[in-house]
Amino acid sequence: MSLWTDLMNFASRIRELGPEGAYRVMALASELERQGRDIIHLEIGQPDFSTFPEIIDAGKAAIDAGFTRYNPSEGYADIRETIADYAKRVRSIQATPDQVVVAPGAKPVILMPLLALIEPGDEVLYPDPGFPSYRSAIELVGGKPVPIPLVESNSFSFDLNELEARITSRSKLLIINSPANPTGGVIPDSDLQAIASIAQRHDLWVMSDEIYSRLVYDNTQASSIYNLEGMAERTIVVDGFSKSYAMTGWRLGFAIMPATLAAKVGLLLTHSVGCTAGFTQKAGIAAIEHGDRYIEEIVSRYQRRRDLFIGGLNAIDRVSCNLPEGAFYAFLNCSELGIPSAQLAERLLNEAGIACVSGTDFGANGEGYVRFSYATSSDKLEGAVERIGNFVTALQ
Ligand code: PLP
Repeated sequence: MSLWTDLMNFASRIRELGPEGAYRVMALASELERQGRDIIHLEIGQPDFSTFPEIIDAGKAAIDAGFTRYNPSEGYADIRETIADYAKRVRSIQATPDQVVVAPGAKPVILMPLLALIEPGDEVLYPDPGFPSYRSAIELVGGKPVPIPLVESNSFSFDLNELEARITSRSKLLIINSPANPTGGVIPDSDLQAIASIAQRHDLWVMSDEIYSRLVYDNTQASSIYNLEGMAERTIVVDGFSKSYAMTGWRLGFAIMPATLAAKVGLLLTHSVGCTAGFTQKAGIAAIEHGDRYIEEIVSRYQRRRDLFIGGLNAIDRVSCNLPEGAFYAFLNCSELGIPSAQLAERLLNEAGIACVSGTDFGANGEGYVRFSYATSSDKLEGAVERIGNFVTALQ
């Protein structure tokens, strides 16, 4: 079979599927490094420190104890109980263990609930700019993606009139993400309340991606829409261990949803991934039991880096950056430079040795922005500000 015939045979549902911008840039940056170039990596969204020692020890002990076999698709009973307690303690979310589904990362609990709920042609509203897997997951399950623009002047929250205007009789589910990737924005409580009313008025499911909820600054609260009246029965809270506990490669996420939906998502996991590694789940329990004291220290470290980096960026002429309230991303407004974002990101990599992601990798409304992850050392961030400043000055 020729390559051409091969390509022709791909299913239409993957026609639009592309790589994630950050991974693509990381590959390009690594190639430049191989050629001897000095690159500052600000492209990938992961903590720059190691998984906390108690978590590693628990994972190793669990391997020795034989937690290396198939186990329940929705997760062991003990971790589902631990997560239900954790959600109550940290997020005030009242949920029973049968509402908790454990998965290898947060990504499967974005995809599987959509697979369980969305009929072909159902419309799914999602933030633009937003985490790229939302759109891909909507398209994979045969839904119609309906991007809702985020407004920089409103902490990168929705324009609520715009949101309501885009709802039709086919609208089925709304995805929200607070604190957000790529903007670092936190949805204000008043907007959350309005979004909950809109969801109830139009009978929408809400998928609330709260994976950055522990990483907030200046005593900001990123509240959960799950807790608002009438929302528990229509909300899927997506969360995970990757960002708060520096466990990106362990692959451990979870979601909280109505128990009937949780059972269906469990079946979808049975027939796709099977289950989550048992030793990873045991490490996750240790993360919840021992992680909080590390998180406090890490949040203050990120906050210092944020202040240094955003302060530095805002001192550069013709660019500006909102102060992110959560997560570890700076979303730089570079619209005044008059260079398309994709080109700008490419030039920053090739000419300044700064690996970053074009705003357009997060949706069409990301035009005019580039994203930097500031989960790296202060020295590197200082070096990055200098390089970006010199690059922008040389453009004039
Ligand atoms: N949700 C958001 C907003 C993210 O930024 C990410 C990772 O970058 C994920 C979900 C996926 O997390 P995980 O690596 O646990 O699958």
